[in-house]
Amino acid sequence: MPSQTLGIVKPDAVAAGRTGAILAHLERAGFAVRACRLVRLTRPQAEAFYAVHRGRPFYPELVDFMTSGPCLPVVLEREGADAVPVMRDTIGATDPAEAAAGTIRKLYAESKGRNAIHASDSDDNAAREVGFFFGEGELAGLWGA
Ligand code: ATP
Ligand code: MG
Repeated sequence: MPSQTLGIVKPDAVAAGRTGAILAHLERAGFAVRACRLVRLTRPQAEAFYAVHRGRPFYPELVDFMTSGPCLPVVLEREGADAVPVMRDTIGATDPAEAAAGTIRKLYAESKGRNAIHASDSDDNAAREVGFFFGEGELAGLWGA
C-alpha cells in the first residue's frame, strides 16, 4: 500500500532556481510526484496553512515569507506506509545548521526561517495538507490507484 505526504518547495528555493534539483532529490529518495503546481499563496491561505503556529513569535515572519513569491506544493508518494517519516528524514532539521549532511535543507536552505522546503509532520496532517492544495481529480494515478 503506498502512502503520501505533502511537500512545498518554498519561495526562497523557487527564487534561487532550485525547484528542479529539489524534485530530482525527492525522486532519488524514492518518491513519485503525484501532483504539483506553482502557486503564489495569498496571506489568508498562508495563515490558514500554518494556523497551528498562530501566536508563535516567528508566525508573522513565516506568513510574510510564504507569501513573498511563488512556491510549489507537491504530493509525494512511495510504496509502504512511511512516506511522512522518510520525507522528514530527506528534508532534514528545520534549522539548516542542524540538518544532517545530504539533506535538502542542508544543501539548499539559507536559514531556519528561509528553509527551502516544507513537509507534513503526520499522516493526518499529510491528508489535510494534500486536500488544502489539490482536489481528488488532480492526483495522477500510479500503481493502479
Ligand atoms: P515545515 O512545517 O515548514 O515543514 P518544520 O516542520 O521543520 O517546517 P515547524 O516547527 O513546523 O518546522 O515550523 C514551521 C516553519 O516556521 C519552519 O519551517 C520555519 O520556516 C519557520 N520557523 C519555525 N521556527 C522558527 C524560528 N524559531 N525562527 C524562524 N522561523 C521559524
Ligand atoms: Mg511543520
